[in-house]
Amino acid sequence: MSSDAGKQRTSRELLFLKRMFSSYYRRVKIPPPPDFKYREFGFMLWDKDVMVRHKSFSDAEQLQNFLAEYGPKHAYRSVAYYYDPEASTMESKGWIGADLVFDVDADHLNTPCKMEHDFWVCEHCGAHGRGGKPEQCHKCGSSNIKEFTWICERCLDLAKEEIIKLKDFLIDDFGISPYELKIVYSGHRGYHLHVYSEVVRDLTRDERREMLDYIKGIGLSVSSFYRKSSGVIIFEREGWGGRILKSLENLLRDEDGLTALKDMSEMDRSTLEKLRSYKSVILRGLREESPKIILPKGVGEKTLIKLLAKALKMFEVEVDEPVTIDVHRIIRLENSLHGKTGFRVTEIPLNYLDKFDAFKDAIVFRGEVSIKFLFDCPPLRIGEEVFGPFKRGQKVEVPMALAIFVLARGVAILL
Ligand SMILES: [Zn+2]
Ligand SMILES: [Zn+2]
Repeated sequence: MSSDAGKQRTSRELLFLKRMFSSYYRRVKIPPPPDFKYREFGFMLWDKDVMVRHKSFSDAEQLQNFLAEYGPKHAYRSVAYYYDPEASTMESKGWIGADLVFDVDADHLNTPCKMEHDFWVCEHCGAHGRGGKPEQCHKCGSSNIKEFTWICERCLDLAKEEIIKLKDFLIDDFGISPYELKIVYSGHRGYHLHVYSEVVRDLTRDERREMLDYIKGIGLSVSSFYRKSSGVIIFEREGWGGRILKSLENLLRDEDGLTALKDMSEMDRSTLEKLRSYKSVILRGLREESPKIILPKGVGEKTLIKLLAKALKMFEVEVDEPVTIDVHRIIRLENSLHGKTGFRVTEIPLNYLDKFDAFKDAIVFRGEVSIKFLFDCPPLRIGEEVFGPFKRGQKVEVPMALAIFVLARGVAILL
């Protein structure tokens, strides 16, 4: 393989991708986001690596025509509403308000599968390896290393778990109606959650940050969730208290939870043994009408605080902070295509979230096409079928959706 294999993707592939994206936008109606006339739109096109920003559309057809003409690599729209969305500076746009948005991305989660499916290639000598890229190539010392990320069910499931926790926080603790929430698959490694409500539009950056702190459990003191009354520890069930309680139950109930405490050397063996042999008593106490924590002899409040801190950790939501705080942010346009995957940015009804399957529900391209792989690549599922792994140099006819995914990542070329 030549040293500049990553650059082998020529204008031919880019033109193909642009044509395929355009064909999607000619075929599929893209409903614009609520009050879109007041929003700024931004696009990345295939031929230039610059964002076309400060655009606005006065009707849905205009937007559709733009998408069909340019077949953009990435399409975004603002979370904010402006009097003049086309004005070239933020100051002159006239900010009216902004939806509240959250971004959960597997990139920020510590997913074990990264080691299995992400890989890197040294652009200087061609050396390659799995996982995230090293600072320097171990063979030639070059720092000119290209990283290729992949997606799998496991990373998307982990991201989904986070978005579900987040949804529960917003509904249960902030009183946001499920009808005001929209969950969107990003088309790549994560999910977005939008809150459309008059109540949130005026929130400042600081207020949005405060919400994040609460959701991430920042500054929470576990000792505020219980009180001692004549030697009995009584637990508060409200808000975070209820979550900690639930997570404490999970922690104690399954053996892995207890072992995790030891592995993290948060507890010595004898304390752990005491908790283990006493766990049915503790669990019974937790399930009472006003939950109590009954600790075995020789286990004190210090251990309790460690336990609760661990329980709290399990409910914190890992969200990408800048997305929520930035009230001028642009975020992916719903139903547009993601330029790194060709997957659709998909709106997910709340009652379908559990079942949502990106490898099926976000696939929009049909048919087959022949391609040649430039690198060894991990498998990818399209619909019900898993394709690959693939070998460098392999020529193969694959489903169009898979071809677009690998062409967009620059790991294959058209035959
Ligand atoms: Zn190298
Ligand atoms: Zn994965």
